[in-house]
Amino acid sequence: MTHVSGKTALVTGASRGMGRAAALALGKAGAQVLVHYARAAEEAEGVVAEIAAAGGRAQAVQADLSAPDAPFALARQVRAIVGDRLDILVANAGVSKAVPIEDLSVAEFDSLFAVNVRAPYFLVQQLLPILGAGSSVVLVSSLGARAAVGTLAAYAATKGAVDTLVKHFAASLGPRGIRVNAVAPGVIDTDMSNFARTEEGKTFVLGMQALKRIGQPDDVGDVIAFLASDAARWITGGIIPVDGGSKL
Ligand code: NAP
Repeated sequence: MTHVSGKTALVTGASRGMGRAAALALGKAGAQVLVHYARAAEEAEGVVAEIAAAGGRAQAVQADLSAPDAPFALARQVRAIVGDRLDILVANAGVSKAVPIEDLSVAEFDSLFAVNVRAPYFLVQQLLPILGAGSSVVLVSSLGARAAVGTLAAYAATKGAVDTLVKHFAASLGPRGIRVNAVAPGVIDTDMSNFARTEEGKTFVLGMQALKRIGQPDDVGDVIAFLASDAARWITGGIIPVDGGSKL
């Protein structure tokens, strides 16, 4: 049972994929959800409408997190809406680039780190004044941070950095009663991992998993909602694999 009734939540990258699933799970469990997106306004409004239709409260917020000042602007938007208390921050928005080592440009490398590492760091920093005792931060890592899967070296390095942030944030913020964890999804059926929608991709993915189906966004969204809830009150500094037993 997820207990988030009456809590306020920001989910970044909530227009699609796992962020969408997390926003819907939190909304269904009673949280007021800020549904963040970069470009997909229509999809984000669809998530807001779905939460509202189920009797919940939600609102869309926009920011392109590849820009250095975007986490600061997003934090200001969030504070203008929720006031002085944010209970749940799910820093999920991310980008990936599957490419051989030789073919990645400096601009692409920097863009991966900007969205996947810099943005969550400064979002946590800028929202700290309104994250109080009992708040929960959930970051999104990846199977790629612990295993060499695909041609994802730079992307995987961003997720290694996320794992490091989880430990440092959890240690620093624990005394204030703020918990910080991450989920580490395996291959999930989203736009980002659309190769798993091909027969060849599906065979590759199932070959490395104990459970023989392709993971779905709500397989991860439900775990994010659990980590955000008081049911996970004694879990902090954790990086929880949500991968159907990948690369065991
Ligand atoms: P997705 O379906 O591609 O959705 C990405 C989300 O991030 C969208 O809401 C998108 O917003 C947002 N986003 C992208 N670029 C952005 C930017 N520059 N600024 C702000 N928001 C931006 O992704 P997903 O597969 O659900 O992935 C969610 C998280 O899980 C990511 O951190 C990803 O690295 C991680 N992950 C994914 C997998 C997988 O197999 N899919 C596995 C492990 C970890 P718009 O819709 O507005 O563009």
